[in-house]
Amino acid sequence: MATFRESPVNRFLLSVLSRWRGEVAAIQDVRRLRDVLRFASVFVITILLPALFLAYFALASIRSEELALDADLRARAAGIEGQVQQELDSVFRRFEERTAQRLGEGGSPLDRLGELSPFLRVAFRLDPSGELAAPFAPPDPQQVLPDNAAFQRPWRRGITAEREDDWATAAEAFALASVNTQNPTLLAEASFAAARNRARLDPRNSVQILSDVYSDYASVRDRMGFRVGDLVVLTQGQLRMASDPEIGAVTLEALVTDILNRRWTLGQPGEPTVARAALRTLPDTTDPDWLARTRDRLNERTAQLRWAETVAGELELLSSQQPGGQGQWNYFSGPNSRALWATVRTQTGEQYLFAFALDDVVSHLRETAGRASAVDAELEARLVPAGQPVVGEPLVQRPLGEQIAFLTLTVSHADPTSLAAQKANRRRARIAIVLLSVFLVFVGVLASARLVGREVESARMKADFAANVSHELRSPITQIRLKAESLQLDLCYDDADRQAHYDAIVHESERLSRLVDNVLDFAAIERGAKRYSFRQDDMAAVVLIQVEATRSTLEQKGMEIELTLPDDLPPVWIDREALGQVLTNLLSNAAKYGSDGGWVGVKVEGTPSGVEISVSDRGIGISAEELPHVFDDFFRSKDPAVRRKKGTGIGLAIVRYIVEAHGGTISVESEAGEGTTFTLSFPLEPPEGAGGVTQHAANPVR
Ligand code: ADP
Repeated sequence: MATFRESPVNRFLLSVLSRWRGEVAAIQDVRRLRDVLRFASVFVITILLPALFLAYFALASIRSEELALDADLRARAAGIEGQVQQELDSVFRRFEERTAQRLGEGGSPLDRLGELSPFLRVAFRLDPSGELAAPFAPPDPQQVLPDNAAFQRPWRRGITAEREDDWATAAEAFALASVNTQNPTLLAEASFAAARNRARLDPRNSVQILSDVYSDYASVRDRMGFRVGDLVVLTQGQLRMASDPEIGAVTLEALVTDILNRRWTLGQPGEPTVARAALRTLPDTTDPDWLARTRDRLNERTAQLRWAETVAGELELLSSQQPGGQGQWNYFSGPNSRALWATVRTQTGEQYLFAFALDDVVSHLRETAGRASAVDAELEARLVPAGQPVVGEPLVQRPLGEQIAFLTLTVSHADPTSLAAQKANRRRARIAIVLLSVFLVFVGVLASARLVGREVESARMKADFAANVSHELRSPITQIRLKAESLQLDLCYDDADRQAHYDAIVHESERLSRLVDNVLDFAAIERGAKRYSFRQDDMAAVVLIQVEATRSTLEQKGMEIELTLPDDLPPVWIDREALGQVLTNLLSNAAKYGSDGGWVGVKVEGTPSGVEISVSDRGIGISAEELPHVFDDFFRSKDPAVRRKKGTGIGLAIVRYIVEAHGGTISVESEAGEGTTFTLSFPLEPPEGAGGVTQHAANPVR
């Protein structure tokens, strides 16, 4: 006790509690409180905190897993972006390297463009002053042709006559037209038309006739954009094919070669048309390799011319806009332009302008993006114009390289809503698992706490039992000793007093032996060693003996006992001694707890299935809450009215055990303050193994 009071916490709790609980109860309360606190702290330290930590880490790991998944997605998106950027880079890096190499080798980067880049459509060279130097000449200035009826009339006549193969009339009409004009274009055109028809009339002098026109007007272009010189040579070649095919072929081949080596003029379609006509006229004997090569060159230049004409309008803008350092590449694309321009300046101050087919480059990059993202079903790459609002939240959103800065590459999740749903589902499932685990831990803890509580309660009941038995033993022993000593010392007043002492000694020894019987029986039941000897017997006789044996005790307490016993009870299988113990226990309880009512009723009656005995009193009764536990081992009510009475808590457990060993049942009806009735039913048929000694120990009372 000294150590108990040494603790300041105990002292404080005692001082608070003892005020309204009293000193002794307060000490018990504090002890119990400390036990509870100890249990609670062990629970918190060993279970609650670890469970909370685990839950916290599990939730944190869910978060980090989500972040890792996100990072993975972003890394994959960045991979796709990298592939597209790399492809873009390599397209232009390859082009720059090859161009630089060709320039370094002294070659021209204006032809065989396909070798420089498959996306290149045309290239230009500007001289240091910014003038277009190659491969085409700038468009000729627009010339206004005079409305000259004196020229037009013979000219139209010439056309009609030539169409009808009336070469003489045609030659004459064209010659008249030629003298009726001062305009160099019309003059050249009419002179050539007249010479052409004259040459047809006079094939032998055709060379001379045409050569004269050539020497006068070779470099003049007609109204259709054909150089008169080219038309003359073409006509010469065609005419020669009839008389001297070899020379005709040489003439035409030379014409094509000349046209191909010449600088064409933007806006003038004459050169390719003439060259094509010349090629068509060449005989089958022409070297096919030369023919194929020449056709390719012609096609390439024609395509370049077409491209050059569509983008020519941007040339001026470019030459003024791109100051670029020497050898330094600049890229540019104007709004609505078909071309992506690359420009570079050489050591000599010339500038090269390369026009890439913008659509083709973009669709190539789109294809690359599509291919890269096709590998990853979750991701989708898109090229969108820079500045255009992007739907959703792309994982990557970056402008393409400097070459195509006006396009933005975005890589997004292919199905963002399903991604969000997946994320949410995954998170919900994980959280549910964590919460379920925590819940199970708590359920487990509560279950163990209940088990522990039950064990503690059972230990407490056993301890109470030991204390109660000692207490119960002491009282009859003291009484016996006192009475015996009085007799020994002859302290009695008279014979009656002496007789009373003897009676008391007998009474107390009976009580003592009942108590010892109960304890020993209970121990035997617990061990499974209790044996009964059943025989068919008269129940009424046993009940009568027990009631009569108790009557005087009850009457001494001022209680009345009422026995209802029918005459025609059937015999039932009983162990007399055990049944006697059952009735003793029930009647002594009725005497103990039913004294307030002053009445005990014992009723025996036959039922169709056997015999029923009920023992009733009008005493303190049992609360509904405690009623289910009255047959439990060591159970004693918490009611102070019960606690004041002596008892061990094993009487009813033994009763139930004995009744069940007889194959019977026991039930109790009670109401607090009203009284209690125990009803025992015994069957007519013998219990298991009856007819001899039965060991009934399969189910010790629990
Ligand atoms: P005890 O030795 O305490 O009487 P028992 O096993 O005989 O032990 O009874 C168990 C408990 O059942 C008692 O402590 C009491 O609370 C309750 N009880 C038994 N019989 C009666 C009764 N006739 N009236 C009221 N309560 C009873």
